[in-house]
Amino acid sequence: MPIMEDSIGLMSKPKNLKEAQGKTPRTVNGKGDLGGGALIVLTASPSEISNYDWNTFTAFLSAFPSASIFHDQMVREFFTPEDWPNGRAKYVPNGLRKVEAILLKEFPEEDVVVCHTRSLDRFVGPRTKVVGITSMNPLGLAYVDTTYSSIFGFGEKSINSVEFDEIFRTKALRKYKPKIFLGGGGSWQIDKAKRRKKYGIDTVFLGESELTALETFKAAVEGRPVPKVVEGVRPQFEDIPHVRHASTYGVIELTRGCGRNCKFCSPTMRRKVSFPVDFIEKEVEVNVSEGSRMIFVNSEDIFLYKSHPGFRPNRPAIVEVFKAIAEHPGVDFVQLSHASLAPIVYDPKILEELTPILMEKTRWDPKFYKWYRNKFISVEVGVETGSVRLMKKYMKGKALPYSVDNWPELVVQAMGIYNDNGWYPLATLMTGLPDETEKDTIATLEMLDELKNAKVFFVPLLFIPLEDCLLKGHNRVPLDHLNEAQWDFIATCWKYNIDFWGSDHRWKIALGSLLAYAFYFRWKHGRRIRLPMMKIAGFPDMNKIIRSRIYGGCEPSMCRSASGPDKALEADVEGAIEYEKDGEPAQEEKKDTDPRNRK
Ligand code: SF4
Repeated sequence: MPIMEDSIGLMSKPKNLKEAQGKTPRTVNGKGDLGGGALIVLTASPSEISNYDWNTFTAFLSAFPSASIFHDQMVREFFTPEDWPNGRAKYVPNGLRKVEAILLKEFPEEDVVVCHTRSLDRFVGPRTKVVGITSMNPLGLAYVDTTYSSIFGFGEKSINSVEFDEIFRTKALRKYKPKIFLGGGGSWQIDKAKRRKKYGIDTVFLGESELTALETFKAAVEGRPVPKVVEGVRPQFEDIPHVRHASTYGVIELTRGCGRNCKFCSPTMRRKVSFPVDFIEKEVEVNVSEGSRMIFVNSEDIFLYKSHPGFRPNRPAIVEVFKAIAEHPGVDFVQLSHASLAPIVYDPKILEELTPILMEKTRWDPKFYKWYRNKFISVEVGVETGSVRLMKKYMKGKALPYSVDNWPELVVQAMGIYNDNGWYPLATLMTGLPDETEKDTIATLEMLDELKNAKVFFVPLLFIPLEDCLLKGHNRVPLDHLNEAQWDFIATCWKYNIDFWGSDHRWKIALGSLLAYAFYFRWKHGRRIRLPMMKIAGFPDMNKIIRSRIYGGCEPSMCRSASGPDKALEADVEGAIEYEKDGEPAQEEKKDTDPRNRK
């Protein structure tokens, strides 16, 4: 509508920010609706905004194929973003709240509207200069999507990728053509796939944006040119603002960055920050005061909080901060994002002290979900592989303050400590790492056998070379290139999940698996997944049958289920190493990580 835009002077470039802000009246009807649109609109799609009734695991459903029979039901039941009466979103991803806080340093609240994508037509108008979108996964290239879309899907997009496409069909965006900015954890996908132009995105933000967002938004508002890609700049703690409004799931940052230097991981590239307790308490208060019942503690590893040199956990600091969060008035639930394994082997008392604080606030309780037998605490841990060779090659810092030489034993021991304290971790493992051999996969299978009775939810994934990680130039293994051991790895994880989490429904799962194989998977993946599907269905002796094929005949020392533990995996702990600040390993004190010696 060029005539209308000209009539209010929007086609001519404003001379400065003040002039740009003042071109049109901001409020016209007294109901909070913005006549002419808001100057800046920040948005995210419903699957990223919804709280899923405070169930953090339900959010993973949005990574499933969009043609799934559950799609419509999911949209109806779970994708339920909440709005304030004026149409602004009540909860949005924490990263978008940080951008909002940065913009509010210079723009008044009425110029910065945060809404979910279904409300864009309401807030984008002739006055709108920028729409900032955040997306975790615009093209469905994240780990969970890629793995499970390729297993279950017909080749169609994942749900959150379909939602991302829908944003660009919004009438107001097409009509008023504001500048489009894209940020968030998945923005690299658009850059890597060179889809920026296709979507009409003006600027892609990669990495952290505390030091770059304000200037770029101001340039767009003032009509100055904006860069196509803005690379993140590592902020100092002082540069990170408090959120002004509530985040989805009540997310707050406990730490940022990691420093263990796993080569497939992007958070390791960020500067390590542990937020002070008073900073965290303020963020908790913002979330609770706007209705959040949950505080979701975000961290690459909660045990990194104010850690001592060499990745030694700082128990008093960890306990103090979690006490402050859990005891804050109005916090009903505390959920954790990520944790690691080595720190609790190093200091098992951390869990002894944390458990009473967090068990009181767990969402995973039979009083909320009747299918759980007892309360438990959950956290995501990265196990990744059982291959010491791959660990040394790609993630030798993961075991710090220990040596990675005994990684499988350390994993088993840590899972035991978690379980003994009532923590049931969600463990991610991957296959398809560059240069992975069948022997490496077998090492993972052997480690899984040791975890057979652990209370863990295993999530087997295919390796994806994320753009902002050190392995970004490598290829991923397509599903039809997986060998028998890799299929067995996926099947074993799900078999153990069913044994522990789905034992009451075993016969239904068995029937469903066989029907799925007969009518779909056989056609999609071929006969090679017949045995893995039989294993998932619970057929007896499948472990022996599959392993004997993998090993080329049942070699007694290899068939662990038949012949007991593999001696090779029982090597003594050689010693622990510590990384000094400069990253050079130095010999350190010895600590026994043999699971058999755990008390
Ligand atoms: S330990 Fe986790 S967060 Fe840290 S670098 Fe490794 S994968 Fe990334």
